Parts: sequence; C-alpha cells; structure tokens
Amino acid sequence: MSRLRKSPMENAGASTETIVERITTAVLEQRLPLGAKLGEEKLCAVFGVSRTKVRQALNRLARSKLVVLKPRRGAFLAEPTPEEARQIFEARRVIECEIFAQFTRTASEADLAALERHVQAERRAIRLDDVPLRNRLLGTFHVRIAEMVGNKVLTEILADLVTRSSLITLLLQSTQAASCSSDEHRALIAAIRARKAPLVQKLLREHLDHVERDLADIDGRGSEFDLADALGPVAAERKGKAPARRVRNGSTPSRGRVPSQP
Ligand SMILES: [Zn+2]
Repeated sequence: MSRLRKSPMENAGASTETIVERITTAVLEQRLPLGAKLGEEKLCAVFGVSRTKVRQALNRLARSKLVVLKPRRGAFLAEPTPEEARQIFEARRVIECEIFAQFTRTASEADLAALERHVQAERRAIRLDDVPLRNRLLGTFHVRIAEMVGNKVLTEILADLVTRSSLITLLLQSTQAASCSSDEHRALIAAIRARKAPLVQKLLREHLDHVERDLADIDGRGSEFDLADALGPVAAERKGKAPARRVRNGSTPSRGRVPSQP
C-alpha cells in the first residue's frame, strides 16, 4: 500500500500542477495501462481535492494528448494508434535533430558531466530492476538536453512527446532493451563531447528508429491496475519497496522482441 493511500489528507490542497505532474510521472514510469480510466471521483479521493481541480488537470492533460475526454464516459489515458505513434516519433526526430545539433555546439563540460551522472542513474535503475525509475530516466535524458540548450518552448514540446512515447513503449520494454538504450545514451554523450556533429545525428536517428521497428506490437487495452497505487510516490521516493511492474493486463513485459526506449 502506498504512502498516498494510507493518508490521502497528506495531499489536501494538491494543486492542479501537482495532479498533472503526478499523472505525467505515472505515465513516464509506465505505471498506468493504456486506455486506463481516470475516474474523477477516485482522483478526488487520491489527491484530496475537489472535482474542479481534477477537471482542470484532466483538461490540461487532454490538451497535451496524454488523456482523452469521452463525452458521458469520462477521462481515459490515451492509446496512440500505430499511425499516431509513427507521427510522434517523426516529430521527435525533427525536434531532437535540431536540439542535439545545438547541444553539440554549445554543451559545456558541466552539462556533459551532468548527463553522465544521469546515465549512471539509468544504469543503476536497470541493474536494480527498478522498472518505473528506469523508464522515467530513459525518457528524461532527452528532455534534460533540451533544457540545457535553453529553449523553453522546445523543451515543453519535447517533454510532451517523450511522455507520449512512454505510452507507446508501454508493453514493448525489456531489461535488455533498456540496457541497450542506456548504452546508446552513453555513445551519444561521447560523440557530443568529441563535437562530431554528423555522428551525433546518425546515432540519434538510429536511437529513435529502434522503437518504430516494434510498433506493430501495439495492440489491445489494459484492465488491471490500481489508480491510487499508480499515482503513488514517484520512483525515487519508493525506498525499500519492490518496484512496481504494472503493465497492460497485469502481464510481465514482452520478452519475445527486444524494443528500445529512447
Ligand atoms: Zn533515449
């Protein structure tokens, strides 16, 4: 049982931003299944807030396409189709090629050291099999680079796209793929440090292409999950607790194919 469920009043007065952030983090950590119903009443109970705040949060998440609002049925986590998924990765390629090109020119030693620490944290999460933390760190690696480049608009757009990418890779993740993905992050940092712009572009494209090759695996919708658990404390706060492994239909991640998570 999460800390949050034991004491919902702890969250009394949770802001709209907090609710948006907690749901976004749960998506990044892949703790909510695709198409999950986000019941207003339950969210009110989880966060100890009024329906107004919950609706504001859901509307904001709907604008960034993470949530779908269905008339008379309520809010659901989005379920990207393979075509939407392809478009999301196409958008990431366009945006990230420019962000990485700028970063290759401007990255300071402090920036690169911070990224190396980020990759070390990825590898630690992989080694400890902390799936939610691992998923979040693999995604936020890209957003950190956008932040370091310093364009807030691009950072916001990319953060939304990375979160939506987490929906796409929800069932396609495996430890081997995550490890491979983290290795690719390390190779990117080395190429950036060497200021090898064409190599950075090549590595980035290959990195983002890996997921697209596995898009055919997207299917079905999930059913078993606990909203309060999924929206509980973020991975870094779950000390001493077994990492959640909540994926669609309560099954373990597919081991057959080995997709990547950029
Ligand atoms: Zn990546």
